[in-house]
Amino acid sequence: METQRNFLRNPLPTLPWICPTCRGVRTPGFDYCYPCQEHQTTSGGLLADVVAPIAYSPRTGQHHHHLRLYKSTPGSAQAHPHPLQDLIGDRLGLPWLTALSNPRHGSETRTFQRDWFTVQLPVESVNVRPLVLDDTWTTGSRAQSLAYALKSAGASSVAVVVLGRHIRPEHAASRPLLKAIEDPMFDPAKCAVER
Ligand SMILES: [Zn+2]
Repeated sequence: METQRNFLRNPLPTLPWICPTCRGVRTPGFDYCYPCQEHQTTSGGLLADVVAPIAYSPRTGQHHHHLRLYKSTPGSAQAHPHPLQDLIGDRLGLPWLTALSNPRHGSETRTFQRDWFTVQLPVESVNVRPLVLDDTWTTGSRAQSLAYALKSAGASSVAVVVLGRHIRPEHAASRPLLKAIEDPMFDPAKCAVER
C-alpha cells in the first residue's frame, strides 16, 4: 500500500462538477455524467444505492496497469471464478451470489442492459443487501446492469465497490479532474461515501 500511495488517488468529493454516482466529470446541465444519466433513464432508477470507487485509474497510470495485469494470465479473462473472487476468497465472511451473464452482452458492451445478468437470491433470506465488487468502472454499465438484476430479484439495496474509476486522459472533459488529482494524495482511511 505504501508504494501505491504515489499513484493512487482518492475519489473527489461530490463537487458541483463531479458525478455524485461514479465521481467522474458531470455533464454540464445534468445531474450526473453522461453514462450515469443514461443508466438512470434506462433502468427506471433501479440501480446501485451507492457506488464507492477506491481510487481513480487514469488509462495511462500505474493503477490502470495493475488492474489489467492481475487478470492477464492466460485463460483468466473468462475464468470462473473471476480472479478478483479468487483474491478475496472468504476474507469478507459473506456468501457469494452467482450471476448468470447473458452471452449477448460481453466486455465490448458499453451501455446498460436490463437482460445482462440473471441472479437468484437465497429463497430463505430476507433483506438481502448484496455488495458488488469489480476491478474497473469505465462506464459503469456492467455494474449497474448487475445492480438492476439484483434489485429486480428482490435485493433491498445494492452497494458497488470498484478498485479503479477509469479516466480517459484524451477526453478534454477529463482535464479538470486530472488537474485536481495531480498531487500525490491517497488516504486509505478515506471512503468515497463518507465525505
Ligand atoms: Zn457518473
